[in-house]
Amino acid sequence: MIEQSLVIIKPDAVRRKLIGMILNRFETEGLLIKKLKMIQIPRELAEKHYAEHEGKDFYPNLIKFITSGNVVVMILEGENAISFIRELVGATNPAEAEKGTIRGDFKEQPVKSVTENMVHASDSKSSARREIELFF
Ligand code: AMP
Repeated sequence: MIEQSLVIIKPDAVRRKLIGMILNRFETEGLLIKKLKMIQIPRELAEKHYAEHEGKDFYPNLIKFITSGNVVVMILEGENAISFIRELVGATNPAEAEKGTIRGDFKEQPVKSVTENMVHASDSKSSARREIELFF
């Protein structure tokens, strides 16, 4: 089934000049970029996007990080795009992400942070719908 997913190239990857490499990976894998923009996420939007994590110990740092600089936000489209992109991106903790995944191939050695994991990708159809609505 053709699906759309919301993907964010996070501030750590932008600072490390990985935008091109990451976009290239998605396009090479056959995904179509439907919309794309560079923004600095305002605090209120970050809080809505990460509402499910409110109250967790890493939440304050997550909000600080995701609002700390420019990000590239996009809608990607393709066959089973939501689960396919999650596989391409790799495990949430870059230390556990396998070779061949974006986090596995581009992580800093040693991995300093779970929060600074370069890419966000929607984890379900309902998250994708909600996140696309929030950002576009
Ligand atoms: P997710 O909703 O799975 O995308 O998680 C949101 C983001 O929170 C992840 O992409 C990480 O940046 C961060 N995160 C998730 N779990 C942890 C954790 N245990 N410690 C620190 N940051 C985390």
